[in-house]
Amino acid sequence: MGIDYDVAVIGGGPAGATVAAYLAKAGISVVVFESEVFPRPHVGESLVPGTTPVLLETGAMAEVEKAGFPKKYGAAWTSAETRNVPHNGFTGLTHDFRNAEILFNEREQAGVDREFTYHVDRGQFDLILLKNAESLGAKVYQGVRVLGADFGDPDAVKVRVRMGSKEVGIDVGMVVDASGRQTLLGRQLKLKVADPVFNQYALHSWFDGLDRASLASDPELTDYIFVHFLPIKDSWVWQIPITDTITSVGVVTQKHRLRAAGDDREKFFWDCVASRPDLSEALGKCEQLRELKTEGDYSYSMKELRGDRFVLVGDAARFVDPIFSNGVSVAMNSARIASYDIIAAHEAGDYSSHRFDTFDTKIRRGVRNWYEFISMYYRLNILFTAFVQDPRYRLDVLKLLQGDVYDDEEPKALAAMREIVTAVENDPDHLWHPYLGTLRAQSPN
Ligand SMILES: Cc1cc2nc3c(=O)[nH]c(=O)nc-3n(C[C@H](O)[C@H](O)[C@H](O)COP(=O)(O)OP(=O)(O)OC[C@H]3O[C@@H](n4cnc5c(N)ncnc54)[C@H](O)[C@@H]3O)c2cc1C
Repeated sequence: MGIDYDVAVIGGGPAGATVAAYLAKAGISVVVFESEVFPRPHVGESLVPGTTPVLLETGAMAEVEKAGFPKKYGAAWTSAETRNVPHNGFTGLTHDFRNAEILFNEREQAGVDREFTYHVDRGQFDLILLKNAESLGAKVYQGVRVLGADFGDPDAVKVRVRMGSKEVGIDVGMVVDASGRQTLLGRQLKLKVADPVFNQYALHSWFDGLDRASLASDPELTDYIFVHFLPIKDSWVWQIPITDTITSVGVVTQKHRLRAAGDDREKFFWDCVASRPDLSEALGKCEQLRELKTEGDYSYSMKELRGDRFVLVGDAARFVDPIFSNGVSVAMNSARIASYDIIAAHEAGDYSSHRFDTFDTKIRRGVRNWYEFISMYYRLNILFTAFVQDPRYRLDVLKLLQGDVYDDEEPKALAAMREIVTAVENDPDHLWHPYLGTLRAQSPN
């Protein structure tokens, strides 16, 4: 039996468009099915430099540069704490832990040729990536939903798609699931496992006229991403420049708090913002441009990241929490790493599971480091700002923040953080004990 395409990709977001670009460049026949018609709005607007090498390799960077997205040189964190946090717990950690910032150019990163990355309107950005894949030879269908994939035939996968009012079957050599948090294959194959600890919830919108300089300690930082810690446990606000005047603002908190507040999302958003009077005052003067959007139940893992004739990339493989703006980078880099194995599998004429071992090992390693970093942040967030400012750990933390997580075994900052967090958790009299969060995800094995 002949096949229609070598590879079918489910979803045309950053993960799907990137895998399609690499495969098309390698001369593999690839089809992308995207259920929406682009441009469509999407959460996840602040990039990290880990995206740069992928944008350069796939050739999408030229169009990204032309789009005029705001340049992102670094990241800043501000705290609601008015007192100075005591730091006599550990030698060397002697900074003011309330605020911190990092500049990406403090550390060289392989394949990164510039000091900045971008904040993006995902409608435009995702369209650029998808068009780029198309220009490289990928066949792209927009407005076509994948309904499922049938793995019953040992020689091919039948992908079932809805085209207009018809259901059509397409025969392919293998499938890449890049369906994002829809997790099409993860659900179909019952691979998905809800995260036992993280059940975060986000409410967000775009605002016109936010005086970003008034919220920055230094005017140089105005176009950084800002993460404003709230005095509410485990809760924070993102501030991401979209244009000179438009800013994306989102509250991330635990879902049970919304329920406890009576499920009025609008009121809940503004009550959370009001817990930071500086932010509330600045945001109160702005025009809200979009309805408040919510994202919930977004943390999960998958029992398998690959199998015979399939791999999962981007959010379709895993999602934890967006605190370090790493999702698009993970999407694009998991797609890049998967592509290398898919190209080799194609050349060998064999799409069985073991062909994707390198992908599996690298992604699991990256995810393990990443999960632990996020978990440390939620367990004791002042430790994070302390480590950012400590010269012994700054570059190591910056490496994680740059999205450079796939090639190292364990960054040394993680081991040090783990030791300190555990000590603070185990000592109720420790000066940092009152600063502990309530989310206690343990280090993965
Ligand atoms: C609250 C929140 C804040 C975030 N902030 C950031 C941030 O600042 N920076 C950052 O880098 N990341 C952020 N992220 C993460 C980021 O949004 C994702 O990691 C990223 O979009 C993943 O890309 P993807 O291509 O895997 O999935 P997506 O971008 O979701 O793309 C998946 C595509 O698949 C399509 N699709 C789904 N099902 C089907 C189907 N059955 N058939 C055909 N097509 C289908 C969808 O329409 C979609 O276009 C955030 C996430 C959340 C929840």
